[in-house]
Amino acid sequence: MNFTFSEEQAMLREMARKFADKEMRPRLEELERAGEPAPELVSKMADLGLLAAHLPKEYGGGGLDFVSAAIIWEELSKASWTMTLGSLGHAVLSGTILARAASTEQKEKYLPPLCRGELLFATATVEPDAGSDATAISASAVLEDGRWRLNGTKNFVTGGGTADHILVLAQTDRKLRAKGMVLLLVDRDTPGISIEKVRLVGGRTSDIVNLAFSDCLIPEENTIGPVGRGLHAAFHGIDTARVFITAGALGMAQDCLDSALKYSRERIQFGKEIGNFQLIQETVARLFAEISSLRWQLYYAADLKDRGQAHGKELSAAKWLASELAVRAANEAIRIHGAYGCSDEYPLEHHYRDAVLSTILGGTSEMHKLMIGRELTGFNAMT
Ligand SMILES: Cc1cc2nc3c(=O)[nH]c(=O)nc-3n(C[C@H](O)[C@H](O)[C@H](O)COP(=O)(O)OP(=O)(O)OC[C@H]3O[C@@H](n4cnc5c(N)ncnc54)[C@H](O)[C@@H]3O)c2cc1C
Repeated sequence: MNFTFSEEQAMLREMARKFADKEMRPRLEELERAGEPAPELVSKMADLGLLAAHLPKEYGGGGLDFVSAAIIWEELSKASWTMTLGSLGHAVLSGTILARAASTEQKEKYLPPLCRGELLFATATVEPDAGSDATAISASAVLEDGRWRLNGTKNFVTGGGTADHILVLAQTDRKLRAKGMVLLLVDRDTPGISIEKVRLVGGRTSDIVNLAFSDCLIPEENTIGPVGRGLHAAFHGIDTARVFITAGALGMAQDCLDSALKYSRERIQFGKEIGNFQLIQETVARLFAEISSLRWQLYYAADLKDRGQAHGKELSAAKWLASELAVRAANEAIRIHGAYGCSDEYPLEHHYRDAVLSTILGGTSEMHKLMIGRELTGFNAMT
């Protein structure tokens, strides 16, 4: 067991920190107020090797382990978790699915430009009536003369407004449920696609859309993986995304603690810096204890995943607790800042709005509790 970062990990952390300070923090206020995403961040991250760190080297990725990826993502998310969400939908979710399920020819065609940030990708699985229960999707794909006819609606697609290609999970035969599903790579300019921007409580700097597909014709060669294994491939991407979402939640929580500590040394009330008061110390001490414990839980789960070992309950525990901790840390940090914490002139309130999103994507807290319960007891309480 080794509790020290390697030289390379320490260097990556420094690089990600500098990137967040130089490319993200200075633009945050402007982008948050305008509600604008920053898709150009994707190629800037790619230039530094921060974008596709976990993807295979042979296709242009960094070939790094998940602990290193978590270290990068935590640093970036200290500035803004949702400014990096586009990269999550692109390199993490879609990149992982392609690396896992695409044919060698498809990987050679799509992964290098994905890793360079030249072509953008998004993944669409969730529908109006199929969220946590992915087996309920009804988007249909019917094969006709070498082309899939795709119809249906997909909701909350991260990066879907700017993506060049969207990986769409569709059903070929409802009777087969999960075993009838297929993943299709859909070009953005395919006739029959309509896009509707979604405005969420947070995530103002992200590009999240609902997509409708009406009689879209998709070449059969754009099938990713075998028919019947689409959901399996999507779950593989979601499992990897959980590492990044958890690291992002910890980054938000850490930034909230750092801001609270700074403010508690500066703000004077009752003739003293507020950091002198025991109730303030209890709050920051608890946040420190929880953040550091969960960071090790995440590294442990990521390490198990790196070694190809079972990591379901360990990663679920980290994802559930870290995302809820981020919500609480933002709340506590805002309270320590008093009314100033509620103002958008202090770089805190965006974490308050963003953190709640991290409790939902990549599986809700309830789903993670149920997955842990299922593994521990052997009983499925989900259905
Ligand atoms: C910021 C953000 C980005 C996203 N990006 C993408 C994306 O790129 N691609 C994509 O396809 N989707 C994306 N999503 C959608 C996300 O995957 C879903 O929101 C998530 O899976 C939950 O589905 P739902 O919202 O339909 O909630 P539902 O599944 O309807 O759940 C509603 C509530 O019921 C609870 N619940 C459901 N079933 C059970 C049960 N069996 N037992 C107990 N409680 C239960 C849930 O925990 C939740 O509290 C994104 C969502 C967000 C917020």
